[in-house]
Amino acid sequence: MKVTILGNNSALPAFGRNPTAQVVTIYGEHLLIDCGEGTQVQMQKHGIKWSKLNHIFISHLHGDHYFGLPGLINSMSLLGRQAPVYLYAPAAIMPMMQNILDLADTVLTYPLHFHPLPEGSGMLVETETFKVTCFPVEHRIACHGFLVESKTKGRKLLPVQCRDYEIPRYYYDRLKMGEDYVRKDGTVIKNELLTTEGPEVKKYAYCADTLFTDSFIQYIKDADTIYHETTYLHADAEKAKMRYHSTPIQAAEIAKMAGAKQLLIGHFSSKYRELAPFRDEAMTVFPNTLVAIEGNSYDV
Ligand SMILES: [Zn+2]
Ligand SMILES: [Zn+2]
Repeated sequence: MKVTILGNNSALPAFGRNPTAQVVTIYGEHLLIDCGEGTQVQMQKHGIKWSKLNHIFISHLHGDHYFGLPGLINSMSLLGRQAPVYLYAPAAIMPMMQNILDLADTVLTYPLHFHPLPEGSGMLVETETFKVTCFPVEHRIACHGFLVESKTKGRKLLPVQCRDYEIPRYYYDRLKMGEDYVRKDGTVIKNELLTTEGPEVKKYAYCADTLFTDSFIQYIKDADTIYHETTYLHADAEKAKMRYHSTPIQAAEIAKMAGAKQLLIGHFSSKYRELAPFRDEAMTVFPNTLVAIEGNSYDV
């Protein structure tokens, strides 16, 4: 599982330092989490194919997290998209989207399926390859984090060996499930000769915009990677609390409490010129900390 960070492409000096959109890639499929202004431009720039994007998740209705949505939804239609798009977002977003489309007399070329986020936690979507649930965080307005879990597709086939042992294609799914191959004459070809271990199941917790609180720890426990906002440095911890944001030390505490393996920090206030102090602060509590930079991808 991979996360690509997309900047909030606004004219404000915060550009690139307040990366609010993220693309989670699982087996080649993209999930978009939040969609700040200009997200569609950044997706194109960083080679994120829209044809591989079917699910969009919006954490809350502050502009830096969804102002790019109407543009993206409209552009996909202009390009004649047919495949459905599934949108998981606060309930109030749908009348707004509908209004925008109605005013322009636009009929989308594809079905847009809307799923309002529940008040508390809940399951949003489960496919063969991933599962996404949401959980409430504590922000100035209603806000949700998302837990993305990849699923294993079973064992990985070794194509050369499968060909050498003349395994028929229809048997491949059974090999992935760990079965041995039995020839008609009764010879057994051991599964270990034909496959290796499949990709690990991973958990990625996106904690959106939130003040420092352990109220959602139960939902992100044992995540491999936690994304946590760090809008302010710790010297401004009071301000962070007042504005329902967090500091690197607080994000690191959360990662530690949750037993995470890796912490990704982002959403930096434009008042700071350097990002290094954010990482340095977090690392005093949680050494394995990465800084979310526009355009970069991270294994999570
Ligand atoms: Zn916010
Ligand atoms: Zn924000």
